[in-house]
Amino acid sequence: MYQKELQTAINAVTKAADLCVRVRANMVNPDALEKQDRSPVTIADFGAQAIICEILRREFPGDAIVGEEDSADLQQPGNAATLIQIGNYIQQIYPDATEDDICDWIDAGADNVAGRYWTVDPIDGTKGFLRNDQYAVALALVEDGDVKVGVLGCPALALNLDDPNSATGVIFTAVRGEGAKMAALHSDDFSPVRVVGEDNPDKLRFLESVEAAHANHALNHAIARAVGITKPSLRLDSQVKYGALARGDAVLYLRLPSERTPNYAENIWDHAAGALIVEEAGGKVTDMYGKPLDFSTDYKMRNNRGVIVSNGSLHQAVLNEIAKVAV
Ligand code: AMP
Ligand code: MG
Repeated sequence: MYQKELQTAINAVTKAADLCVRVRANMVNPDALEKQDRSPVTIADFGAQAIICEILRREFPGDAIVGEEDSADLQQPGNAATLIQIGNYIQQIYPDATEDDICDWIDAGADNVAGRYWTVDPIDGTKGFLRNDQYAVALALVEDGDVKVGVLGCPALALNLDDPNSATGVIFTAVRGEGAKMAALHSDDFSPVRVVGEDNPDKLRFLESVEAAHANHALNHAIARAVGITKPSLRLDSQVKYGALARGDAVLYLRLPSERTPNYAENIWDHAAGALIVEEAGGKVTDMYGKPLDFSTDYKMRNNRGVIVSNGSLHQAVLNEIAKVAV
């Protein structure tokens, strides 16, 4: 099932990830960029979205695409130089693409999450992208609230986290009911991934955001302790955390709302692809109250709070601990 959708998504995510890699390689001084200049992320974000939308529109003209950006800002006179730079990157893939084409592709997005739609995060983890850490290109197909296909491109992730000399660049895929897989980016050599149990002491650790504004690190830590995890957390940006958990790098990913934004509603494109990959690898994904993530109401998951991702066996114990402290 969904073979054309899967192959199209792999193609789109790979091309978008390549563009992100090229933009980041051209960043003048990565350390200085976060404070001074966000243009690399703007270029990569719009460029990657344009490529993904162009490919989806061509292969599945009837499908809605729900994403973050539209081209209104880009078309402001002050952003002319940025649009030209995006054009330069896109023309390496589509030599004939004009700036109008690119804006049209970016604007293929809709915000209707009814029925069948794709949701895309062209660069998930923009802070990580600028910091020279992790980021992901995320694409998922949703039908009536159920994620059917999920693809995560992780250009900066090591193939083997435990090997300091490991090559980087990983793609994770999943089709509902057919398992989750991973491959080196650009390789067709996919192998199944599976979550690990708590009986693996090296992997008995949890994942969380790097950014303190995105999660409550202190509460994450307390909950992890309460379920017997004593190792320090592994902090990674973006949905890379879902891929890492799916392949057994850790047993738990905690995303309890930051105290600064206790009522933050998560975006569907920040979770749809990753959630399917973890579920198909044998894990479990809910919000902090144990409710399934809602991909059918709005692009904001207003019916959920926080996100808890586990290997499955640990899930209920984590929810029980949260219930003791949650308001
Ligand atoms: P991460 O890299 O896991 O920290 O997540 C990055 C994502 O966090 C971005 O794509 C944002 O959409 C999202 N985000 C932004 N603000 C918040 C917030 N206050 N709480 C949770 N997530 C957020
Ligand atoms: Mg994101």
